[in-house]
Amino acid sequence: MSLTDIEARIAAACKAHGRARDDVRLIAVSKQQPDARVRKVLQAGHRLFGENRVQEAAGKWPDWQAEFDGVELHLLGPLQSNKARQAMDLFDAIHSLDRPKLARALARLAQEIGHCPDIFVQVNTGAEPQKAGVLPDDADAFIADARALDLPVLGVMCIPPIDEDPRAHFTLLADIAARNGLAGLSMGMSDDFETAIGCGATHIRVGSALFGARGG
Ligand SMILES: *Cc1c(COP(=O)(O)O)cnc(C)c1O
Repeated sequence: MSLTDIEARIAAACKAHGRARDDVRLIAVSKQQPDARVRKVLQAGHRLFGENRVQEAAGKWPDWQAEFDGVELHLLGPLQSNKARQAMDLFDAIHSLDRPKLARALARLAQEIGHCPDIFVQVNTGAEPQKAGVLPDDADAFIADARALDLPVLGVMCIPPIDEDPRAHFTLLADIAARNGLAGLSMGMSDDFETAIGCGATHIRVGSALFGARGG
């Protein structure tokens, strides 16, 4: 689907749910996509992209950032503490803060470097054992601790279980954000971004619907 088509769907969902189009940002998830597809979206004027892995992003984005002005890059996937410095150099936002050790590493580096990407705390809304993220019951304390470290916590992020209606998970995440005074809600992917917009998403992360199947 073209960027224009996705934009039209976002606009329609915003209209249907009484949201302002400017309140929802489209993160084009370019992980594992052929260069030509990403370049096409860059040439169409889109500037906000998401990647899952530091290494992959470091290999391809510096060249594009030299060629296209104003590219903003968000890290969506798990981050190892030993890659935190590289991530902070490369990314404008990190959506996957999920443990105290990583929070401390980011805080220490932020002091040293003098800046820090926007931070989203990942919440494992389905309490799935194999999935990253803090448990919903631990979210308030974890967010408070991250703020106490002076991390710029902008919001929360979730990836709902694949076999469940995402609505309950989006609502749970929105509740966590609201009671912690957080404006950012990173939720909604190719199959459910319209639902996420209806539940208050501020950052939707769309990959395959925009670029086509990964690795294709
Ligand atoms: C891959 C990925 C996406 C995009 O997934 P699609 O289903 O291709 O839209 C969004 N968020 C995260 C965290 C991802 O890893």
